[in-house]
Amino acid sequence: MEVFQDILNFFQSGTFRFIILLFLYCIVVIWLSFVYWTYRDANQRGANGILWALVVLILNFFGLLIYLILRPSEYIQDVMERELEIEAKERLKSGQAIDCPACGNIVEKDFLVCPYCRKKLKNPCPKCGKPLQLNWSICPYCKTVL
Ligand SMILES: [Zn+2]
Ligand SMILES: [Zn+2]
Repeated sequence: MEVFQDILNFFQSGTFRFIILLFLYCIVVIWLSFVYWTYRDANQRGANGILWALVVLILNFFGLLIYLILRPSEYIQDVMERELEIEAKERLKSGQAIDCPACGNIVEKDFLVCPYCRKKLKNPCPKCGKPLQLNWSICPYCKTVL
């Protein structure tokens, strides 16, 4: 019965309590890092970070599972970048923007230089200041001969 007594002593010892505390501590740390991770991930995807952090805080692993199923599939930054790209292409199509002949970036139609590669795109009219094509010989806006 001495072994049994030893085991009993172990469970009543400070070491055992320490192990239990350490175990609980680890669980709490993992739990809180889940909450933090969810908060950050939800915000990056344009979802409500605080709401989802609360869900994970309350429901723990189950909440995390729900979040992983329901979260938006794309980062908000990617969505915004794609929308900007589509918008730039549409401006190009409607004639409001042009391709820079040097670097190919999409720039506004009336830019005097390309903001990406600094290539000269237009000359300002000396009289009215409107952007003129480099090969024009007269300003079509104010009829100034160049
Ligand atoms: Zn350029
Ligand atoms: Zn002019």
